[in-house]
Amino acid sequence: MGWLLLIVIALLFAFEVPRVRLRYILRQAFPLPYSRILRKNLPEYSRMPTDLQMQLKRRIRQFLYQKKFVGCGDLEITDEIRVTIAGKACMLLLNRPSEVYPKLTHILVYSAAFVAPRQQMLSGGIVTHTNQGLSGESWSDGRVILAWDQVLHGAHNELHGQDVVMHEFAHQLDSETGQTNGAPLLSSAAAYRAWSQVMEREYESLLHAIQHHHHHTVIDPYGATNPAEFFAVSTEAFFKKSTELAQHHPALYEQLRSFYQVEPRDWV
Ligand SMILES: [Zn+2]
Repeated sequence: MGWLLLIVIALLFAFEVPRVRLRYILRQAFPLPYSRILRKNLPEYSRMPTDLQMQLKRRIRQFLYQKKFVGCGDLEITDEIRVTIAGKACMLLLNRPSEVYPKLTHILVYSAAFVAPRQQMLSGGIVTHTNQGLSGESWSDGRVILAWDQVLHGAHNELHGQDVVMHEFAHQLDSETGQTNGAPLLSSAAAYRAWSQVMEREYESLLHAIQHHHHHTVIDPYGATNPAEFFAVSTEAFFKKSTELAQHHPALYEQLRSFYQVEPRDWV
């Protein structure tokens, strides 16, 4: 009987203690300095209705409790870095029943664009090694890598319509299905049909615009790389250029609105 009791106690510790701790943390007041960081680096925050602000703060607390931030190179992780990244990442979760990025464990942050060694196979079997400056990367093994100066750049250049944090965390949502292919978890087969119909059409039209040298696309031309990137840059446009996206790509806007369950046009 003794060993059974031990197993029960071990299970309680493994599963119940973190849950009790999380409930305790979510009940605490949101620190005032954190609210100041949100107002400074998340322009949408101040314009959102109160219930969304409350939801966001709750998600941020859970995010900060569950994920580990690691400073890379000479970067020291500060509250501003943690709260800004958590805030932008959790914007994608508002009003949705989803967990807070259940597969994600670590956020690695560099002070500026980081260099990742790459191997590329050229035709003829020659492998080249290139060093690319990257502003963000999302891995399906539970890591997101970000360059802090790029995170701030998005925060303070609203007209630019880019946001590297939202971009990488859209990839995280996309990968929750087990495949990062531009189709995140949807509620039904009908929802998937509608999604793929709209996404394919919009993707083709972006390719067409690029081939015909139309500059000024609402959707970042980088989206033409593949359907996964298309979903990530569409997510950026949905949150950062909502009015323009709704005007020029109403069907795409509608798909994203029903997925993200928010109306960012109200916060412009
Ligand atoms: Zn990407």
